[in-house]
Amino acid sequence: MDSFQYFMPVKIYFGKNCILEKKEVFRNFGKKAFLVTGQNSAKKNGSFHDITEALSSLDIDFVTFDQVEENPTTETIEKAARIGISEKVDFVIGIGGGSPMDAAKSIACLIANPGLTATALYEPVALKHLPLIEIPTTAGTGSETTPYSILTLHEKKTKASNKQSVFADVAFLDAKYMLHLPVSTTINTAVDALSHLIEGYLAVKSNFLSDIIAESGFKIIGECLDALKTGEFSFETREKLLLASTLGGFVIAQAGTSLPHLMGYALTYHRNIPHGQANGILTKAYLALFQEPKNQQKIKTFLNLLGFSSLDAFGDFLEQVLPEKSSFSEEEIKQFTALSVQNKTKLATFPEKISEEIIYQIYQKSLL
Ligand code: NAP
Ligand code: FE
Repeated sequence: MDSFQYFMPVKIYFGKNCILEKKEVFRNFGKKAFLVTGQNSAKKNGSFHDITEALSSLDIDFVTFDQVEENPTTETIEKAARIGISEKVDFVIGIGGGSPMDAAKSIACLIANPGLTATALYEPVALKHLPLIEIPTTAGTGSETTPYSILTLHEKKTKASNKQSVFADVAFLDAKYMLHLPVSTTINTAVDALSHLIEGYLAVKSNFLSDIIAESGFKIIGECLDALKTGEFSFETREKLLLASTLGGFVIAQAGTSLPHLMGYALTYHRNIPHGQANGILTKAYLALFQEPKNQQKIKTFLNLLGFSSLDAFGDFLEQVLPEKSSFSEEEIKQFTALSVQNKTKLATFPEKISEEIIYQIYQKSLL
């Protein structure tokens, strides 16, 4: 058997009302918390209420930064960190979709290193960080179990994961916060979770354990296909999607994401296409690239676990659940290709032959 390593340090509490039921956990992290959220949803979906109630009942003080935008920028991270430093917070709680959860990781680094700017996050020097708790309110990114923080870099005109590895100390998973997540966000984020399972399963660094976890994730998502098609989500389905998303985080924490993520960043930056949807648009053409029998066998296995008889049937499903594609120009495809090939680390996750021409062809097949 091939040698491999596996690392997953996040303590997970899963279940309805887990924050209030396990609130004693917060005592381990200090006397003042920094709550990092998006602009609206945390206050509407009950997560902000549960956390502030838990903290208040324990006499833990808190300050809130509620200005994290979708696809957070380095400017936002720096602004939040300045507040966290001046407020002398002891730990950070990220509440929301991937945007606030990723932001919380970078903010936790900059608060622990006063004087540094966001540029330092992209240097290959490991920075210390404040303790971190993550609370997902979308079921997609798995950020609560990955070490990654993906920020928008205006100077590079794209998004990129920074070089720090920040795992949460604790993640609270409660699907009740997702009960009113709009159907379109539910689908986009579910497709993101699915793309993590797929890309991690097929990446160079996939291993025995990450494959077992990915296979469980495919089965769970397979049980949610009807709901994704009809747009009707029971609490049980919400819990399944949340679990699958967290499992996707386990998988990419080991194996990383691959081409659809790399290439999707350009679609999000330049055309404002939501992250999960961007991955979904590129997935079929990416899967059609694999030539080696062992990879083709893996594709067959996961399609089976999901409940699809062929790649075409899976492609049809993605087309059915995702919004209609916008139109793209040949010029844009060349621009996206040129951007994508700069990220050699992500290109190296693909286990077969890869070239600029192949990247160009995936965009062409997916977008034109
Ligand atoms: P998001 O950008 O965090 O949120 C999307 C929208 O959903 C926002 O308008 C948000 O509102 C709203 N929302 C969140 N929770 C809600 C709820 N429970 N009910 C109603 N609305 C809700 O979306 P996301 O897809 O979860 O995260 C995408 C980001 O994660 C991207 O930047 C992507 O690159 C990153 N990502 C990270 C990883 C990783 O491993 N770290 C993996 C994949 C993707 P508010 O703004 O008001 O909160
Ligand atoms: Fe993703």
